[in-house]
Amino acid sequence: MHRKMDDALRMNDEMYAVEPLCRRPLSLVISVLVIVYLAALAAGCVASSHPTAPSQFGRVASGDEMLAVLAEPGPVRFETVVAADWKVPLSGLLNLDHPRAIEAGLQDRTESIEIYFHVLDHPRFGVFLVDSGLAEEFLEPDTNPHLSMIVKTAMNTDALTVRTTTANWMREKSVKPAGVFLTHIHLDHIMGLPDLALDTPVYTGPAETEARKLLNMFSRGTTDRLIGDLGALNEWQFASDPSGLFTAVIDVFGDGSVWALHVPGHSPGSTAFAVRTTEGPVLLTGDASHTAWGWHYGVEPGTFSDDKPRSAQSLAQLRALLARIPQLDVRLGHQPLGVSPAHTAAVGPRESPAELASK
Ligand SMILES: [Zn+2]
Repeated sequence: MHRKMDDALRMNDEMYAVEPLCRRPLSLVISVLVIVYLAALAAGCVASSHPTAPSQFGRVASGDEMLAVLAEPGPVRFETVVAADWKVPLSGLLNLDHPRAIEAGLQDRTESIEIYFHVLDHPRFGVFLVDSGLAEEFLEPDTNPHLSMIVKTAMNTDALTVRTTTANWMREKSVKPAGVFLTHIHLDHIMGLPDLALDTPVYTGPAETEARKLLNMFSRGTTDRLIGDLGALNEWQFASDPSGLFTAVIDVFGDGSVWALHVPGHSPGSTAFAVRTTEGPVLLTGDASHTAWGWHYGVEPGTFSDDKPRSAQSLAQLRALLARIPQLDVRLGHQPLGVSPAHTAAVGPRESPAELASK
């Protein structure tokens, strides 16, 4: 009996003694398998499986060309519509590891934001929306057929308060949009698409649907359902800006009234728009800058972005545009420019346009 126990203990000791040797290769194998599995999942997880096509609309242009005319009075009647109020983590909206955010003592918290769509009424080409607002079905997120449960939870739809739906706005204005220019295809920018007529052309930056990340495993189905039976997404045919001021510039209507600016970083095809309106020049940053604080202090978006360094570069290009055209009316991705969190004072005065221009 004792001998059996001794043998058992010895065997146990021997096993224990060699375990680190066994465990290391085994754990290595498991780790490799997990990495391969996750990489396979991530590789398969594009943002959307909806088809795309090259846009037939838009002429490749340069930043210099845009700057030469942007301050001149334009033909586009413009309106921003606040479609909803929402709350999301500040760490998604702002890179809290940026030295200025650290200096200001910014901590992660829930931040109140807004969801917009913008209306461009061109006298010749008709009414175009920039982003899409929210469809009627978002009045009742719990019964929304397009949202999976996991997306409802991840998007915190309980904190979503709809102010107006896209269908309601179209009814009130008796308007059928001639097209939609998406700043990118994240869910909070495509939630109004189900309210649009199926023949409405939709335009995006390049490679938006191809963005691959693990998170897309949960959001792709919802993204595809929201785009639904609309036609192929028309991708801007951006080409490198010869002036070097921007990544790429497109003269959307070919008449110098609306300019699409490639601002990659938040997503691969993120697009901002500079518009010559009847009230003066307007810049729609999309989510190249979500918050007023981020815009004022030059801090790029946080964890919601694919590529923070590219995001920072795109933000710098847009802020430099304001320095050159100080009368530019800047409309940010998710907050009015006037919102100024209490932390603002902690990092001193904002940079003036002249200071920005000297960078
Ligand atoms: Zn957004």
